[in-house]
Amino acid sequence: MFMKKPKLYWHIHHRSLLEPATEPIRNRIKFIREEKYASEVPIRLECLKPVKRPDLLPREVRLAAAKLGPNDWDASWCVFADTTRRHFKRIMARHRKEYPKCTCDPHGQLIFPGYGR
Ligand SMILES: [Zn+2]
Repeated sequence: MFMKKPKLYWHIHHRSLLEPATEPIRNRIKFIREEKYASEVPIRLECLKPVKRPDLLPREVRLAAAKLGPNDWDASWCVFADTTRRHFKRIMARHRKEYPKCTCDPHGQLIFPGYGR
């Protein structure tokens, strides 16, 4: 099932800061609970949060997110990924404002305990 209007979340995947949910987020939460290493689950679930104020993200990012759709997924995803890379600093600043307690690193990736990082 594809969401008509993808909703933006922080940390759907541990290496990504900002992503649209392509299916109901409860499916991803269930997957994390069932498939990920137990030691990673609390951090993954704690950091997976909805973007509270997508309207405060850079305009280009919002436009790229709005263009994501099932008909042209690969191309629109590339544009979205490229746009978020270019605006990373502003996106990260927004993230830190919304969830100051998030433990992700400066690259927006989750850090799991005991991984030697
Ligand atoms: Zn974070």
